[in-house]
Amino acid sequence: MRSAAPKAGVEQPRYHGPLMNTTWNEPIIRDLVARLELFRQGCRVTTLVEVERATRSPFHILVACVISLRTKDEVTAQGSARLFDLAQTPEAMAKLAESTIAKAIFPAGFYNTKARQLRQISAILVEEHHSEVPKNEADLLALPGVGRKTANLVLGIGHGIPAICVDTHVHRIPNRLGMVQTLKPDQTEKELRVLLPEDLWIPINDLLVTFGQNQCHPVSPRCSTCPLDDLCGKVGVERSR
Ligand code: SF4
Repeated sequence: MRSAAPKAGVEQPRYHGPLMNTTWNEPIIRDLVARLELFRQGCRVTTLVEVERATRSPFHILVACVISLRTKDEVTAQGSARLFDLAQTPEAMAKLAESTIAKAIFPAGFYNTKARQLRQISAILVEEHHSEVPKNEADLLALPGVGRKTANLVLGIGHGIPAICVDTHVHRIPNRLGMVQTLKPDQTEKELRVLLPEDLWIPINDLLVTFGQNQCHPVSPRCSTCPLDDLCGKVGVERSR
């Protein structure tokens, strides 16, 4: 465990708020996570966790995650439900017309592209993976439209294999806290793999997504009522409530 420190040769974010001297060691990180868990109790469950709880199916999680990219949570929930009403398995989804998939997931962002990818993914799973979702990063990343975020989410909540899914919230909030100093999600993933004990890799995504949607908003976070205020460096926060 270590405190975050600027790296030589890496462009650093601009700092606008006070920097806290929080040392991100294991006790502090577990305290932070305990606060996030308490916060989460008052919030609705995110769509991807909802899908996991309802289906326990890596395929459903993979499909919902592809739909969720650049799409609001409610739209993902509704589009996923409509699509699963039409097809529950890779075989069934591979047989759907792209236009049928697109219509089901509309108005998800890039719905035509995602429809094509979902059909291709389903066909690849059937033809190359015995209709199963792969349990390794390389095979997941080889699927159309699947990047590190989706691959890690499927490994984590789909298969229970420790992986950190870094989306916009998981990238933004640790940077604001001063826990990491990174410009890209891939860098954040690398930093968090060093900082976080392995048992927190899977749950951290849902905790930070919920926190980002309800408290630490991208624009004007609610710092005045924040349960993490005493730990937070508010790095890059120009305006808050
Ligand atoms: S809401 Fe404000 S105090 Fe809380 S984590 Fe976000 S930036 Fe920090």
